[in-house]
Amino acid sequence: MSYIQFLGAAGTVTGSKHLLNTAPDDRENSGYKLLVDCGLFQGQKEWRLKNWADLPIPAREVNAVILTHAHLDHCGWIPRLCKEGFQGTVYATPATVDLCGIILPDSGYLQEEDAAFHNKQKSSKHSPALPLYTMQEAQQSLSRFRAVPFAETVELAPGLRFRFVRSAHILGAAMAEITLANSGAPRTLLFTGDIGRVRNSTIAPGKVVHSGPTEGESPDVLVMESTYGNRHHPHDDVLPEMASLINATVQRGGSIVVPAFAVERTQKFLFLLKELMEQNRIPRIPVFADSPMGIHAVQIFLKHSEEFSAGTREMIARHGSPLQWPGFHFASTAQESKRINENHYPSVIVSSNGMCMGGRIQHHLIQRLPDPRNLVLFIGYQAVGTRGRQIKEGAHEVKIFGEIVPVRAQVAALEQFSDHADVDELLEWLRTFHRTPQSTHIVHGEPDSAEALRQQIVQQLHWNVDTAKYMAKAEIS
Ligand SMILES: [Zn+2]
Repeated sequence: MSYIQFLGAAGTVTGSKHLLNTAPDDRENSGYKLLVDCGLFQGQKEWRLKNWADLPIPAREVNAVILTHAHLDHCGWIPRLCKEGFQGTVYATPATVDLCGIILPDSGYLQEEDAAFHNKQKSSKHSPALPLYTMQEAQQSLSRFRAVPFAETVELAPGLRFRFVRSAHILGAAMAEITLANSGAPRTLLFTGDIGRVRNSTIAPGKVVHSGPTEGESPDVLVMESTYGNRHHPHDDVLPEMASLINATVQRGGSIVVPAFAVERTQKFLFLLKELMEQNRIPRIPVFADSPMGIHAVQIFLKHSEEFSAGTREMIARHGSPLQWPGFHFASTAQESKRINENHYPSVIVSSNGMCMGGRIQHHLIQRLPDPRNLVLFIGYQAVGTRGRQIKEGAHEVKIFGEIVPVRAQVAALEQFSDHADVDELLEWLRTFHRTPQSTHIVHGEPDSAEALRQQIVQQLHWNVDTAKYMAKAEIS
């Protein structure tokens, strides 16, 4: 019997990894084995340790990976899969392939840094502590990628094909629409990956990608995310609040530190800063985008203008590339990054990673958190167990590189930036379906959030829905 097994993002928001085995009978080995997404577990240690566990089947027996988008919690385990012997192809949209080209090697670099840190501190049970994969291994894994444009059908095996449809989450983000016709009537499986703001949402500021998720789907089996399954995004315009937070910080002589993913979220924030400056609503203070892949990310971003929303297109037509904007600085080297710390005048520092769990943001936090004049401004989701979540929830101190850092800076969050549909938008999207799926499995949410979405779908749409459990199998009848 064909089945889906949830190897990640079940009971949590990270580690997305769903195994589809198309075996038509009990002989599991006879099936085609496909992973939809192959992400890293992040956040709580209990989950992170699972990055070191083997898959339930040997990696060399996985025939292919379909990757929905370039966030690490969806793509970050691919180098490890390759290291473990995977020989197949990773299918992704062209923008996702380009983004993985910078994100995965950077992830390898951070894994190596982490291992080196533990070795120096002797803080790992393992001696020597090893990286999950190295930068070089991440680079090698890129040779397995194949770009597949939206809507193009790929035949994976007889009776098994897929195409990408838009999820409108980040640049290149897709849902995987898989058709399985190995026995009986063909069945369609839709794996949503992460679902972006719906088409008629007027409340997503600086929306970069256009059009909302593809509507009118009709899958037999739906595997959908639930990150914001129990929440409503604020409906007010973000710009007045953003301007007032920045102005208040500048007036007291502080700087604004913004933890943000280097790709997309950083660009989106820069666009809004530029808009506020052009409208003279905030002063023209220096802006530092501090990320080793910052410049490269902007270049990839501009290369895929076919994905832009009208607003983004207009911004670029008016102001050109962010790389050319006066007062905006992109720090690529460690030296340039360190120089930002020497600047004691008010400035905006946007640095990754977005949940404060690695990367250069850590150095900026060590330096800026103890000073009450500064502002730490969150514009992204902070998963349970991350340092970002601790700070956001009001921790008085955090531990960074083994050092206790007092949190005296102001902490604020702008929830409007979300790239995920909220519960109302998810339901709105489901209502566009042409028919009711036979089964719906909810993944990629904290347990409360997944359960809340399940209840809403049952109450409002009367569908057959369950929340996926880690390692559980769902048979495809
Ligand atoms: Zn994502």
